[in-house]
Amino acid sequence: MLKNILLIIMDSARYDVVAAAKTPNMDQLGTLERRWSYSSWTFPAHHVFLMGLMPHKSPTRIHASNVYRQEYSQWQQRTGIKEINFSDFTPQLSLPLFLQKRGFRNEALVSMPVLNPATNLNQYFHRYLLMEKHNDFSGMIEMIHPVPGQPTFYFLNLGETHYPYSIQGADEEDMPHLHGVHGTLKHFPEPESGEWFSDDQFQSMKQAQQRAVAAIDQYLPVLLHKFKGLPTHVIITADHGELFGEGGCFGHGPIQHPKVFEVPFLEGELPTE
Ligand SMILES: [Zn+2]
Repeated sequence: MLKNILLIIMDSARYDVVAAAKTPNMDQLGTLERRWSYSSWTFPAHHVFLMGLMPHKSPTRIHASNVYRQEYSQWQQRTGIKEINFSDFTPQLSLPLFLQKRGFRNEALVSMPVLNPATNLNQYFHRYLLMEKHNDFSGMIEMIHPVPGQPTFYFLNLGETHYPYSIQGADEEDMPHLHGVHGTLKHFPEPESGEWFSDDQFQSMKQAQQRAVAAIDQYLPVLLHKFKGLPTHVIITADHGELFGEGGCFGHGPIQHPKVFEVPFLEGELPTE
């Protein structure tokens, strides 16, 4: 039986921040791994996801071609499709095209404007939507309506963990109440201002990202409840990390630093009973 696939990408979420955050719901899904992104910036990192490649484990003593082969064969377990070879993805190297050919519906809900639907990322999606707000996981959840018998690939880019690490929608009646995560971080300098951050501010931003991860975790059951009884494979990861002052850097993008490439990764199946 084919499964739904929920690929949840927490934008900019650092591995060590996710590891330190309270995430009881993610913990139930699978074991958190430290992996490596192919890219330090949002657009190319998402392009790689849509090639069907998840963050890698930086393995040694193995040829890259064999790593890719193994990675592509993982989609057997993730989708429920019996036999998958690397050649099934060629020549386009597109996960949504591969899935579409096998009867999947493809839906993308993205938060970061750089991933907007005018880019080529929206190829082969039945629905590809840029959210109005960059931090509206709860609004995203409201737009997701799985249909029994219609395997669907959900490609979700979450912006709560992106600067300024703010969470909205926490006061909505049907959502769990999240303590201490309201409001934005207005006292921080804007990236454009040229002003630099103090150590305290970096610490405070890191903690804010950690709270954003915990908030995402609290919303997770609301999303997963919609898939109750439906075979569903869930992957939670990040597109790249974030620097909070290490090496004199802030953020991500044109930065060569291990903490920008280090990302969290976990996956697991939802119980169908
Ligand atoms: Zn990003």
